[in-house]
Amino acid sequence: MHPLGQGQMTQPSLSATLAPMQTTEYIAQIVAELCKDASGRPTGSKANQQAAAYSRHQLHAMGYQVRLDRFPCMDWQDLGSVLNAGGDAVPVQTSPYAPSGQASGIVEKASSLGELKRLRRRNAVIAVSGELTREPLMPKNFPFYNPDEHREIISLLEALEPQAVIAVTSSAKPVTVFEDGDLTFPSVTVCEEHAEALLSRTPARAELIVRTRSASSEGANCIALKDTGAAERIVICAHIDTHRGSPGALDNAAGVSVVLASAALLREYRGPFNLEFVLFNGEDYYSNPGEQLYVAQNRERFSSVALAVNIDGAGYRAGRTACTCYQCDEHLSAALAELVRSEPDCVLGAPWYESDHSLFIQHGCPAAAMTSEMLEEVMTVTHTPMDTVNQLNIGTLATAARMTVRMVETLHTLI
Ligand SMILES: [Zn+2]
Repeated sequence: MHPLGQGQMTQPSLSATLAPMQTTEYIAQIVAELCKDASGRPTGSKANQQAAAYSRHQLHAMGYQVRLDRFPCMDWQDLGSVLNAGGDAVPVQTSPYAPSGQASGIVEKASSLGELKRLRRRNAVIAVSGELTREPLMPKNFPFYNPDEHREIISLLEALEPQAVIAVTSSAKPVTVFEDGDLTFPSVTVCEEHAEALLSRTPARAELIVRTRSASSEGANCIALKDTGAAERIVICAHIDTHRGSPGALDNAAGVSVVLASAALLREYRGPFNLEFVLFNGEDYYSNPGEQLYVAQNRERFSSVALAVNIDGAGYRAGRTACTCYQCDEHLSAALAELVRSEPDCVLGAPWYESDHSLFIQHGCPAAAMTSEMLEEVMTVTHTPMDTVNQLNIGTLATAARMTVRMVETLHTLI
């Protein structure tokens, strides 16, 4: 029998501190609070610490055991970089988390791994292009995914102890080549169309000033528990940090609001699982420090995860919520698919891996993810100043919160 039918859990109801607000109003309040700073909530910033404290307060008021798991990180700021090549000012983007520095001299160039291996001059200004800059290079200490070729490029560059590195990237598809606070050299990105003075002249001279500021700071995952004494747990998670300079409504105040609203709906839960609500801090920070901390804490405990539900990029103003599941056995997959089909505001989506559900997948856990159906359109907005609350459909997020509760109920039917 359906355990919920036996009065083990009250009807979804909001916390007394939230009453008489409904789920939609609660979600609207959360996203407005989280997105109030246009420069976002990057890990290590004051706004990020305030967002974690606000979420902690919300979950505590619902009666959960809540903790902030802290970790060191840096609060980094771009103060604007300046490049002059052959007498011309060249527009540049500072590499996120780069140290500040000044560089000048003849530019050493490499457009392939072979050319990079042949560079000998230490302490030069190096311009990399071509196959070396066609995709973002993973941070050198990033544990979750790190191709050998990326590591080799970074270690060859660091061995040359460059004054600075200029990454020339395609104008049609510019990428941020370096985004790594552990790199020893300052760096910037330049679009190909502006790199004429660097690449076509020999020798090319350049003067570069990389101006950044970084301070030691702290971030924290916010984790709320409902311990029913069960052996297994259901994890409901979203990341609370944003890309620097983006208010982060879709990415991911929306996900946080779904986690908090589902926590409110489940506050009287007495079912056969423990519930763990996790607000990860660091999904958009170069080294994922919150995720790394959580993995370290849970290394021996992933086998107790019956399902991890992650929400990221959900609630776009157009379209439905796309739900996907991973590593679920056939019964759970079928039950979740049926659940999704029963909800007009949701649709079964294509698998994707660029968020925190991957962490659970990598550790063998069954997982589900919710994002927006029109993900391609969403991706043009996320990580930009355009990612404001105007991009959201609060009703879609309220449905996603109720969907999360129904996923919990679905698991009950399978034990
Ligand atoms: Zn995200």
